[in-house]
Amino acid sequence: MLVESHRVPRYERVIVIYKCGCSFYNDSWVSSCESEPSCLEHGQAIIGDKGEWVHGIRPDTGETKHHPFKIKLNLGGLK
Ligand SMILES: [Zn+2]
Repeated sequence: MLVESHRVPRYERVIVIYKCGCSFYNDSWVSSCESEPSCLEHGQAIIGDKGEWVHGIRPDTGETKHHPFKIKLNLGGLK
């Protein structure tokens, strides 16, 4: 029996979510502390962050990009 899923390199991508609804990520960020303190387009503050696993090896430098998905945070008090 072949096992093909062994030792695939992966890293956790940090995605930060801003008050305006934008989310940005940069593959070189190790934690949200390294992210931009405010939205690059709207200057709004961070309201949360999220991680997602990506196959590959984390690059030393990366471009800050708009995350393609709208991420909904469960913020409890907001309805
Ligand atoms: Zn924005």
